Amino acid sequence: MKIVMLGAPGAGKGTQAKMIAAKYQVPHVSSGDIFRANIKNGTELGKKAKEYMDQGLLVPDELTVDLVIDRLSWEDCKNGYILDGFPRTIPQAKTLDAALEKIGEHLDYAIDVDVPDENIVTRMSGRRACVGCGATYHIVYNPSKKGENCEVCGEQLILRDDDKPETVQKRLSVYHEQTQPLIDYYAGQGILKSVDGTQDMNDVFAAIAAILEA
Ligand code: AMP
Repeated sequence: MKIVMLGAPGAGKGTQAKMIAAKYQVPHVSSGDIFRANIKNGTELGKKAKEYMDQGLLVPDELTVDLVIDRLSWEDCKNGYILDGFPRTIPQAKTLDAALEKIGEHLDYAIDVDVPDENIVTRMSGRRACVGCGATYHIVYNPSKKGENCEVCGEQLILRDDDKPETVQKRLSVYHEQTQPLIDYYAGQGILKSVDGTQDMNDVFAAIAAILEA
């Protein structure tokens, strides 16, 4: 099962990706998480990536593509994976397709979690991320049972710099320009499935599970 999650920033694709990964026992590979781990560990890559991320811009392909595609060659990915946040541009999608073709593989589904822009900004201002393990919550839709602290590791929850309203607007316009064309790209390959991302997260998940089990 090789799945790409699509959707605007804040559409809930990360949450869904984690739920799919847990249910179907495949790894959740998030390019954003890989960058955030690098930032946390103070690596050179992390420092470079942060400059773009904090402005709501995409990290350049030369810092992104090999890093993510290499991750897919790890042993834990041999039965599949849920890709979250990658590809984000047509060139990234083409490079991924070419890398898969080389090893005789292909993507099974591209799942678009569809949420209108109006809902996104409100949603993202309520998002909270753990400074320790990166787990994400929402103050209204998915609050931590431990209040301002993470349920998983107990560390503090914060509003990520890239979830601040001015950055969200920038990320949305970057999404429309560079990432939304992937919807047509995967529709053309016949693997696009869309779900209504404005529903409750369990209903979104049920819709995705119905697609995967059809
Ligand atoms: P995410 O957690 O997926 O929303 O990603 C957070 C940020 O990391 C994005 O706003 C980008 O700056 C950067 N990023 C993540 N994935 C990619 C990608 N595939 N290509 C370029 N930049 C990315």
